Amino acid sequence: MSIVFIVSAPSGSGKSTLVAKLLKMVDNLDFSISYTTRAPRRSEHNRKEYFFVSREEFEAMVAAGEFLEHADVFGNYYGTARRFLREAEVCGHDLLLDIDVQGASQIMQKIPDAVSIFILPPDWQTLESRLRNRGSDAEEVIRRRLDTARREIENYCKYDYILVNDLLEQSTDQLKDIVLAERLKEERGTDLSGVSDLSNEDLSEEERHVIETAQACRLEEARERVQPIVASFNPQLVKGS
Ligand code: 5GP
Repeated sequence: MSIVFIVSAPSGSGKSTLVAKLLKMVDNLDFSISYTTRAPRRSEHNRKEYFFVSREEFEAMVAAGEFLEHADVFGNYYGTARRFLREAEVCGHDLLLDIDVQGASQIMQKIPDAVSIFILPPDWQTLESRLRNRGSDAEEVIRRRLDTARREIENYCKYDYILVNDLLEQSTDQLKDIVLAERLKEERGTDLSGVSDLSNEDLSEEERHVIETAQACRLEEARERVQPIVASFNPQLVKGS
């Protein structure tokens, strides 16, 4: 069965770069190209980053039940087409969804075995400067994205894995190891959390490394490490946890 990986992050977290690198490194992992009603950015192409459609076209697809999930993000519609999951299943591939927290929670309900990963920027200041340096958005859009980031980060504890995108190479390796560890788990039919209980014959050195890296990113392991980051967005969140 295909594994569905959900990746969410506030915009400006470097998620698209991470995902692009991951897709080059891992075989048999398909990217679900979303439909959106937002206008393409200068560097984007129709059918590559997104299927860019009109609101009327999008609404017709909603009415025809063509979406696995859809949401209004920053005033535009975004949606994941069901056919991408069907196609991945036919090919025996896994599927990666780059979607926001609203879409993620719809998928978590529909596909409880989906593996969810939340990417955090190193802190508030870094996110703010990344959004400004992108130079593609107006001040009002940047403000809105920062406010949304603050709210989205409240949802980090609903995800299976937390990845702090500090050093790109390291974060890419961690993301790859999460995917590979989940595949191993599926193959072996175990949760792999007790990796130290498995004998050397059960796992190669490389597999053990993959599992340990992924394990360190699991929410329960990462919770303390990410508290200062979460606090830089909203100190209330940490006080209340
Ligand atoms: P952007 O406009 O910067 O490409 O994306 C804005 C947000 O929409 C990001 O958080 C991205 O993950 C999310 N997004 C992209 N595609 C989908 C989708 O199909 N469904 C949902 N719910 N969110 C999406």
